[in-house]
Amino acid sequence: MAVLPIALARISLTSPIFLIPTIIAVLWILTYPTIYFISNHKVSSDFEFHFEAVFGLYFVAWISSLGIFAQQASWLSIPATIFLSLAELIMLAIPVAQLIYYALYKACINENGMEMIQETHYNEIIEYIKSMPLLLNITVIISSIILATAITYANYNELKVTAPLDTISLSIVAIIAIFLSSYLWKKKHGVFIRTAIVEFYLDVKEYLATNLQYTQNMQERISKLQVTTLDKSTKPHTILLIIGESESRDYMKAFNKDYPLETTPWLSEMEQSKNFILFPNAFSIGANTVLAVSNALTESNQYNDKKFYESCSIIDIAHATGYKVHWYSNQGHLGSADTPVTLIANTADVAKWTKQELNQVQYDESLLPYLQELDPTQNNFLVVHLKGSHFNFSNCYPRNFTKFGTPGKYELEANYANSIAYTDSVLEQIFNYAKDNLNMQAMVYFSDHATVPDKRRSPNFEGLASVRIPFFTYFTVH
Ligand SMILES: [Zn+2]
Repeated sequence: MAVLPIALARISLTSPIFLIPTIIAVLWILTYPTIYFISNHKVSSDFEFHFEAVFGLYFVAWISSLGIFAQQASWLSIPATIFLSLAELIMLAIPVAQLIYYALYKACINENGMEMIQETHYNEIIEYIKSMPLLLNITVIISSIILATAITYANYNELKVTAPLDTISLSIVAIIAIFLSSYLWKKKHGVFIRTAIVEFYLDVKEYLATNLQYTQNMQERISKLQVTTLDKSTKPHTILLIIGESESRDYMKAFNKDYPLETTPWLSEMEQSKNFILFPNAFSIGANTVLAVSNALTESNQYNDKKFYESCSIIDIAHATGYKVHWYSNQGHLGSADTPVTLIANTADVAKWTKQELNQVQYDESLLPYLQELDPTQNNFLVVHLKGSHFNFSNCYPRNFTKFGTPGKYELEANYANSIAYTDSVLEQIFNYAKDNLNMQAMVYFSDHATVPDKRRSPNFEGLASVRIPFFTYFTVH
């Protein structure tokens, strides 16, 4: 698609209507993925698929097909020069800005950087520019003007040439131009908004807007909230809530005695104790994280149609009863799959994400050091959000933990069983720490939803197997 328009019009590869968008495309394809990789490869084992490469190639096709179209009539040369040059300069500015950011801060733009950019006033930008050396400012301004002039001049020289095409070629070029004018820039599922950098920008924008609303609504939510505590004990204690990920009780020996592998040695032992209650018939409300967690932790549910941001959360309740709330998460922070849960988490007194903090590969055990932040002389409500059995399962546990199958081999069921066994051992460690150090009175564990490991996940409801979650509680008995 990238070279079809110029091939049909028999235009040289050195023509500005091909060369300029190609340089911009290469910058798009290389800049963000490279900078992201350099900055994050040590801490994150998962990379999402983004549309940088697709956008670059389609951008070449879009610009060159519009350019060829403009060459069909001489009166089009000036408006086409203005339009195409402007589009190229804007699309050039985005990767160049990222490179400058990298040169200044030696890292890919992260959430904090993006939030600051979006919350910065024009006055602050002017102040910032003024704070830079004068020579640098002059150099940047002059080179920008030269670049803009050069691009415009080169485009005009090419577009003022009238080069009529035969009807069939012209029709194909026109179809490409029309198709890409829509598909590249559509607000829903367009290519541009699915590039990593633009998606990131939009995620942060959405987060800032909804976070403001959720926090503004908090006072109103809490003012109507009346809480009576049943526990009259005055001794400082901790209540622990652990949220798992994509764990199905069908694959947990403690819940399903017919399952051939011992995936839950700790829980199978704890089950014998009268302090533990395993619920054999728990179901999550749906099979995706945000839906399940936001309903599990707030009063909104499938029966009352309450809006998420108007609903009291379990954290609001913990606050109302005087608990200090800590939230530690090994999940993502922003994005359509994370933001609503992050909004709830942000109302905690302390909320931390391993992705923002630690400099190591983030298996769930990386959450353990955070527990030392809790003060045992206070009443604590502690929430731990695990990565659990998040797809890809083999990224959820260290390779030397492998109990089933071959280490490092991609086998869905064996990888899944290993991730469950690993979660069991992480639960044991968190439980033991809280019991020994924090005077833990109660613990609740549930997985947000389940999954069927050998089946591809789909946004549609795929049967009860994907919502059969593990749910168990622990209470001290006085
Ligand atoms: Zn989930």
